[in-house]
Amino acid sequence: ARADLVQAERLTTIGKMAAHITHEIRNPLSSIGLNLELLEEEIARMQEGRESSQLLSAIRAEVDRLSRIAEQYLSVARRPRPQLEPERLQDLVEEFTAFVLPELQRSQITLRVEADASAPEVRVDEAQLRQALLNLVRNAREAMSNGGTIVIAIHQRDDSAEITIDDTGPGIPEELRASVFDPFFTTKQRGTGLGLAVTRDIIASHGGTITCEARETGGTRFRITLPLNGQALSA
Ligand code: ADP
Ligand code: MG
Repeated sequence: ARADLVQAERLTTIGKMAAHITHEIRNPLSSIGLNLELLEEEIARMQEGRESSQLLSAIRAEVDRLSRIAEQYLSVARRPRPQLEPERLQDLVEEFTAFVLPELQRSQITLRVEADASAPEVRVDEAQLRQALLNLVRNAREAMSNGGTIVIAIHQRDDSAEITIDDTGPGIPEELRASVFDPFFTTKQRGTGLGLAVTRDIIASHGGTITCEARETGGTRFRITLPLNGQALSA
């Protein structure tokens, strides 16, 4: 929990810096975008603008990418304190899965939810927990480019609720496993490396923990624990 706290503080500092830089970048970026749009229109009207319009759409793609990254950084830096409400974990997870199912189906991925009868109640900020789960499920999807299976399991432990998210992807090499939660750590060409850092930050601000493990059958398991409803926050 101590390490999570340090991580959360670090993310806050980085988040503040990122927010500042991002803020400075956003305005020129949107002005570039607007001028680009005017150019696109003008070139579309010209006869021999074919090569130029290819160049323009390459620029357009990069401008859009930068804007997306900027928005992501800002949403990290501006994440509000979680508003905790009692929720039945299973209901929350099932609503979430209904929401991600279409994008998983397009990637040939099957998603299953397993829950034991105890149905733990937790105190969570629903939107933020959804975001945390979404980051994990998106990573699993991105790791399984040829399809596969995700299993989200919910269990009640002695003093916590536990959620595991398993995938049948290639797994995370042992030497990288300690780094995946670091802000900006990514092995993807177009990754931001913010997904797991944000996820850990969200879980820590709920008084919980998150770890990742290698599955015996291959693939990756993320394990989240959250305090049960009625339990004092230990963070
Ligand atoms: P990003 O997705 O932008 O790379 P994340 O913080 O979400 O950033 O993930 C960091 C890195 O952790 C990924 O680049 C990938 O190497 C690794 N990773 C995360 N989840 C998985 C997974 N389910 N299977 C394999 N590797 C993963
Ligand atoms: Mg990610």
